[in-house]
Amino acid sequence: MTSALYPTYPRADLSFKHGEGAWLTAENGDRYLDFSAGVAVLSLGHNHPHLVETLKRAADAPWHVSNLFRIPQAERLAERLCAATFADLVFFTNSGAEAVECAIKTTRKFHAVAGRPERYRLITFEGAFHGRTLATIAAGGNAKYLEGFGPPVEGFDQVPFGDYDAVEAAITPETAGLLLEPIQGEGGLRIFAPSFLARLRALCDARGLLLVLDEVQCGVGRTGKFLACEHAGVAPDIAALAKGLGGGFPLGACLATREAAKGMTIGAHGSTFGGNPLAAAVGGAVLDIVLADGFMARVARLGALLRQRLAELEDRYPSLIEEVRGEGLMFGLKMKIPNGDFAVAARAEGLLTVLAGDNVVRLVPPLVIDESDIAAAASRLSAACARLAAPAEKLGAA
Ligand SMILES: *Cc1c(COP(=O)(O)O)cnc(C)c1O
Repeated sequence: MTSALYPTYPRADLSFKHGEGAWLTAENGDRYLDFSAGVAVLSLGHNHPHLVETLKRAADAPWHVSNLFRIPQAERLAERLCAATFADLVFFTNSGAEAVECAIKTTRKFHAVAGRPERYRLITFEGAFHGRTLATIAAGGNAKYLEGFGPPVEGFDQVPFGDYDAVEAAITPETAGLLLEPIQGEGGLRIFAPSFLARLRALCDARGLLLVLDEVQCGVGRTGKFLACEHAGVAPDIAALAKGLGGGFPLGACLATREAAKGMTIGAHGSTFGGNPLAAAVGGAVLDIVLADGFMARVARLGALLRQRLAELEDRYPSLIEEVRGEGLMFGLKMKIPNGDFAVAARAEGLLTVLAGDNVVRLVPPLVIDESDIAAAASRLSAACARLAAPAEKLGAA
């Protein structure tokens, strides 16, 4: 496979000509059940009629006017995001990394305009992933992503996952806030305990720090709540969204309370494309569906059903699957064999998954799947397991 694209991705030699819901048809006609969903992006699956219609209508109106003019679609989308969450104000971006960048800048500026410019550091957690810009690779702290790109951006102090004492010990007079994903996605579906998030909230309140949540992957209904932090009853000061927000159209958002965003005045930040009419229209169409009555309860119910199927596989194939992790429709299978081998076997059975750190295979299907899609996924996963299982387990399964 030669290509003029940067060879930065380990691409499967597979491309698609048609998609509908959770299903993709490859160029050669093979059908795949897409539980990768463009890495948790396709919240409403492929070619959702409401998104298609919205984008077509938006294509007949001005595509782009810049943020030097009012963009009613973006104003409306921001209002709806605020109504659905803790936030009072929104800054739109084109990607998750930019949403996190805006969150970092908002945090630093909050302290700077209050006369505390020395407070610019954020405490982060091992296993984090916040994007691939220079600041967000520094925040993520993954040595593999930092290697060769010069001195890391200053201002991030990483502590072990879920270690409250380490967080407390890491706070200095330069600390501005804490930055974390309520559920680490790329890091391997590692979930911060609700009680831990609640303790961090209390700690931030006591020490004058901002709680900044990266909900780029776990937000927008993925876990059965609009924001994953709702499971813990915790409201952040700032949150980053992206992936599922545009349902496949590039769209991110930094949400903040009015207080947290008080430094973000005219000229403090900008984006040429952020929240343009096309993106904002599609984001609005995503919310039409995700915020509709009963949608998130349905995600939770289907998630419980999928979890049951995955737990059965874990019981049947203990030599392959160490643990099932997840919430809502965001799952990880912690594997005992190399996760890549399992993903290849699943693909051979017609199921697309995504790899994650900690030897995890991620299952992040469109939120609009139904029971029959879950049954199809379970039988494909089971067939993939049978390909790879130890002989004794194969006999047991027969
Ligand atoms: C994907 C992701 C990002 C980066 O988003 P991009 O759109 O790739 O820039 C940041 N944070 C989390 C938690 C993510 O999952």
